[in-house]
Amino acid sequence: MITQNDADVIVVGAGPGGSATAFHLANRGLDVLLFEKTSFPREKVCGDGLTPRAVKQILDMGIEPTIENGWLRNKGLRVIGAGHRLELEWPEVEGFPNYGLVRTRSDFDELLARTAQKRGVRLHEKTRVTGPIMDEQTGRMIGVTTKNSEGEESKHFAKVVVAADGVSSRMALALGLERRDDRPMGVAVRTYYKSPRTHDNYLESWLELKDQNKLLPGYGWIFGMGDGTSNVGLGILDSSPVFQSIDYKDLLKRWLDQTPVEWGFRDENMTQQVRGAALPMGFNRQPHYVKGMVLVGDSGGMVNPFNGEGIAYAMETGQVVAEVIEKAMKAKSTFEMENELNQYPTVLKDRLGGYYTLGRVFVKLIGNPQIMQIATKYGMASKPLMRFTLKLLANLYSTTGKTKTDRIITALTKIAPAA
Ligand SMILES: Cc1cc2nc3c(=O)[nH]c(=O)nc-3n(C[C@H](O)[C@H](O)[C@H](O)COP(=O)(O)OP(=O)(O)OC[C@H]3O[C@@H](n4cnc5c(N)ncnc54)[C@H](O)[C@@H]3O)c2cc1C
Repeated sequence: MITQNDADVIVVGAGPGGSATAFHLANRGLDVLLFEKTSFPREKVCGDGLTPRAVKQILDMGIEPTIENGWLRNKGLRVIGAGHRLELEWPEVEGFPNYGLVRTRSDFDELLARTAQKRGVRLHEKTRVTGPIMDEQTGRMIGVTTKNSEGEESKHFAKVVVAADGVSSRMALALGLERRDDRPMGVAVRTYYKSPRTHDNYLESWLELKDQNKLLPGYGWIFGMGDGTSNVGLGILDSSPVFQSIDYKDLLKRWLDQTPVEWGFRDENMTQQVRGAALPMGFNRQPHYVKGMVLVGDSGGMVNPFNGEGIAYAMETGQVVAEVIEKAMKAKSTFEMENELNQYPTVLKDRLGGYYTLGRVFVKLIGNPQIMQIATKYGMASKPLMRFTLKLLANLYSTTGKTKTDRIITALTKIAPAA
């Protein structure tokens, strides 16, 4: 049976991007339908690491990340490489908290979705969006078709559709938006081990992943989860010549076999299978608005090329698009509404475009094993240089800041063309 159901906005996918978008739209008084093909809690392959940039987004949704509420805080990043072990505290940056967090994605994603629901969002779990509904006259998307776990099919109509359906984004593909090959991609794998390092109050990053003695562009991570386990994984960039051919599980095992046995990162302590997925970076799917549909998070390739962080950017782009959609909803004509929605790609480029262009250069450079070697050797020998690098890589600087590093990074992102 085909039923009908209308809303101001339809959001496809209740990952961090979709739930944040839906929350901010509902907060602005809009009626929102949020469809999620799975049901919560559900697993999502991730490192579970949240930098202060992501914490800001969590706070912006009114969530209190207290220890009593099950959150584990961290005060910075520990970097290991070239014989050095540096502990770098998160920088103090105006507008951002000075701590990071970890939380399993099964918990985290459910919390965000429930927070959106409490704000009035109509969440439908176990409901897959099967395709767009296009208006034949205007060529614009006016809704979506769905199928729930009982096999019931429905049609839903809205003025705007948000594709927050992750890296493979069937919604974007349905409108012909393929992934851009000139943008970086990463692959990351992770698993969990029972480990005495579970209460670590730093996120830990290992820079020297090697294939036949050649340094790879990427890093390994060890994030204590506070529940008796550590999330351990690694990510590699496609600027490496061996990107396609490498056995990621084997690389993970070879790296962990070199870590002290008492840390527990051995097969007998593994609590989940090694699983991996792609990291779409540097706006690898564009345009971010087309024919009544906007892209948020991984669907629009929003992962930071410098560090592989995606949660903060999925949530942030959700907050940005909610502001754009609110303005579009107040428009007095369809023409005016289209104009407002067409602003979204420009707003995104102004905010992240220059920074992502720098990120693409960085990815290309470290794809060369010699450059990676030199950068690790000389970078790790200097704590001030690494402090600067952390600000750059974690996108934690202030455009109005008075420090020299803030001014340098701001200038670089302004010179780099946003594309
Ligand atoms: C191994 C690994 C480690 C990572 N580690 C980190 C990390 O430590 N920190 C970090 O910030 N980022 C990390 N990332 C990146 C991060 O996981 C993603 O960037 C982030 O999940 C993107 O959020 P999203 O909401 O855009 O998409 P997703 O989280 O992928 O959410 C998309 C949602 O849409 C749903 N969906 C898809 N299609 C449909 C459909 N047709 N109908 C209904 N629902 C649909 C899916 O079920 C899913 O719930 C990691 C990625 C990998 C692979």
